[in-house]
Amino acid sequence: MNSGTPPVTPLQILKTYFGYDSFREGQTEIIDTILSGRDALAIMPTGAGKSLCYQVPALLLPGITLVVSPLISLMQDQVKSLNEAGIHAAYINSSLTEGQINKALSFAARGVYKIIYVAPERLETASFLSFALHTPISMVTVDEAHCISQWGQDFRPSYLKIIDFVEQLPGNPIISAFTATATEVVKNDIARILKLKNPNIVVTGFDRENLYYQVEHLTGKQKDIFIQNYIETHPNESGIIYCATRKNVDTLYEKLLKQGVSVTRYHAGMSNDIRKKSQDDFIYDRAQVVIATNAFGMGIDKSNVRFVIHYNMPQSMENYYQEAGRAGRDGEPAKCILLFSTQDVMISKLLLGSKDFEGMDFQEIDQVKRQDSRRLQLMEGYCMTTSCLRNYILEYFGETTHQSCDNCGNCHQEFEELDMTLDAKWVVGCITEMRGRYGQALVIGTLLGSKKARLKDIGATSYNCYGQLENRTEADLRLLISQMIRMGYIIQTEGEYSVLKVGNIADLQTKNIKIIVKKFKEKEKISASKKRKNPFEKDSFSASKVGSSAGTTAANSSRNSALFETLRQLRLQIAKEESVPPYIVFTDKTLIDMCEKFPQNEDEMLNVSGVGQNKLKKYGQRFLQEISSFLSTNH
Ligand code: ADP
Ligand code: MG
Repeated sequence: MNSGTPPVTPLQILKTYFGYDSFREGQTEIIDTILSGRDALAIMPTGAGKSLCYQVPALLLPGITLVVSPLISLMQDQVKSLNEAGIHAAYINSSLTEGQINKALSFAARGVYKIIYVAPERLETASFLSFALHTPISMVTVDEAHCISQWGQDFRPSYLKIIDFVEQLPGNPIISAFTATATEVVKNDIARILKLKNPNIVVTGFDRENLYYQVEHLTGKQKDIFIQNYIETHPNESGIIYCATRKNVDTLYEKLLKQGVSVTRYHAGMSNDIRKKSQDDFIYDRAQVVIATNAFGMGIDKSNVRFVIHYNMPQSMENYYQEAGRAGRDGEPAKCILLFSTQDVMISKLLLGSKDFEGMDFQEIDQVKRQDSRRLQLMEGYCMTTSCLRNYILEYFGETTHQSCDNCGNCHQEFEELDMTLDAKWVVGCITEMRGRYGQALVIGTLLGSKKARLKDIGATSYNCYGQLENRTEADLRLLISQMIRMGYIIQTEGEYSVLKVGNIADLQTKNIKIIVKKFKEKEKISASKKRKNPFEKDSFSASKVGSSAGTTAANSSRNSALFETLRQLRLQIAKEESVPPYIVFTDKTLIDMCEKFPQNEDEMLNVSGVGQNKLKKYGQRFLQEISSFLSTNH
């Protein structure tokens, strides 16, 4: 510490070790709760900054803080980050040998570490309990606390036993628990199973302001072109592309590889070793893009993911929010783009149809199937909506919204309005003629007068309504039907074979009601020949952020982008020397801040967000030098 006096308040700790100026929403409240000796449960979205909520008080509490964490990779990441910030921390898990564990425990017993990460299974071992009984432990933190609930996807039986361990400890340690999963059931499970005493439960909003949501309706081929263009125009940005199946992953991987993209892949069909290598290549920025199934992501804290593209629609909004949420953990702008085609709905149905229901009885299976199909419908609703995408997500998770966000694809779209009142009557007529026995595809096919053999088989070609809407497009009719479902004129049944039935159409028949469908204006068709854009044009993250300070000219902005690139290279170099992922050396946010502030000395460097005392000492000079030599050659 340059001032010589150790930091004693949470804010001083934040500045000195982590290099940040202020706490974010929820952090102060959690930290104050813990420091007052009370249990705490925090439900905050990914990237909100849950780690600091227990790390800051851990440094102020007299004894050790034990952090229970479900995954080795998460522990390693956290410990590396803490060490980089100049805080002594360690992890104890199965990646260490017995000898290493004993050594770590003996250091810990001597008070070398303030924070120790452990896997939940470790708490059940005699040697660890004996250590814990003889060392003052001020707090037990349960990270990813939803793993305690059998209702979540990540249930981990050992989490149930954490409380048995804590109850044996002398001195009544504080318990704090953290998760991003906010369902009532999970929240109650956490508080009940961990036996939290009068806990302060802090729930912050679901909104991730820095994420830009976007949906594109494209066919398979157009999707490939979209991705190719996107990567070409964002050459220095790290991104994840999620595909629904392993086969999709492999095919897209081969394609991008051929085009010379720096790409790797990840799915459950690959061997453990190769998967681990792929993951590391991505985390250490050796590969720009990873193409993966939803097996990828748990345990990835990489903060500089600038885009998450879904090649297929996921099966639920929960999945989507979690996967897309891996973008922009550092709080900098990031994009979440979903490429939708109607085929995706079929793929999802197939995947859900092959789900394993072992150990469930008939009724339970039926209930789960209904739930799955409802979730899928609402996911499709996200892809079809013409309203604000952010609001759709927030409302899905139970938040009330007020106005459109002006930061998503739909808010930035232009619309045209179609009067489809007559068409709506034909849709009802068609469903009536079908006596509610068929699904959306057949209804649309009939109205369009399609020549599909199936329509002949069911006798639809002789219906009154057959071909009556042949002037419309399939997409228009889809929009109309999804709007009619929302308005209650049509009911879409749940379950594997969902069919359309006539709902309450009273006012459609009597009142002089108009059905207006909002539709996106035709966009310029994506084509392979689309000119390669300047990577630092406005859309690109680096330039848009780096050049955003008031009064910067275009020339200035590209100068800043060039500096950003130089600093990124230096960061990569240092990351190699230190054997840590680049984002642990400095986040993108920190590099961008340097590009805006041009620090010229140590004091100015300390003003950069994310530069604390320890990192200043370790890397400050090298970055200052790089900036000053850049300035002298680029004035
Ligand atoms: P979570 O566990 O909630 O998903 P993390 O604890 O991993 O999120 O934090 C995400 C990122 O936000 C990290 O890069 C962290 O350093 C940063 N961060 C946390 N708190 C602050 C703050 N008060 N100011 C600036 N950045 C912060
Ligand atoms: Mg976390």
